[in-house]
Amino acid sequence: MRKLVFATNNKHKLEEVSNVSRDSIEILSLKDINCFDDIPETADTLKDNALMKAQYIYDKYGYNCFADDTGLEVEALGGRPGVFSARYAGEDQNSERNIKKLLSELEGEINRKAKFRTVVALIENGEIKYFEGIIKGHITNKPVGSSGFGYDPVFIPEGFSQTFAEIGSELKNKISHRALAINELKKYLNLR
Ligand code: IMP
Repeated sequence: MRKLVFATNNKHKLEEVSNVSRDSIEILSLKDINCFDDIPETADTLKDNALMKAQYIYDKYGYNCFADDTGLEVEALGGRPGVFSARYAGEDQNSERNIKKLLSELEGEINRKAKFRTVVALIENGEIKYFEGIIKGHITNKPVGSSGFGYDPVFIPEGFSQTFAEIGSELKNKISHRALAINELKKYLNLR
């Protein structure tokens, strides 16, 4: 079985990815390879950030590796917060404050359209590949639901009436931006 490090410390993401890739790839976490570094992600595009994280592990630890970077792109905000979604309301990366800021910026706004975009960068034996997943939806007027993380309580995916935080992880992991990007990664790996 192919071993790949997923360069993240986010337990929600690891859980999501282990659900979508259980049968074909063995995913190792940063903890599994004894990496406790604060991996830099200082680029200004999702693609470059994802690559920066994967490259760091590949260069320093010698593992084939993939990393993701995700942004919430809100139409009425010209695509913001985008690549700056984690630190939207400050360096402490606090989801509650991020949501508060988002709802206040959108106060009175009729156009609530938004999308999550994930870019995955894979480095396998020195070769770099990118995969993308997008889910469209809209931003609610207030947070609803308690599962998931980040902006989940204020994002309703297209075709649904509940937020990501209400629909639960099983369904979210099937339809999410990250699941779509990881499925692309999986298709690519299975072809090799
Ligand atoms: P990251 O760069 O992938 O860690 O994500 C950047 C920001 O987007 C963080 O603030 C996350 O909370 C948020 N985010 C990423 N994925 C999701 C998701 O699936 N649901 C809600 N928020 C997310």
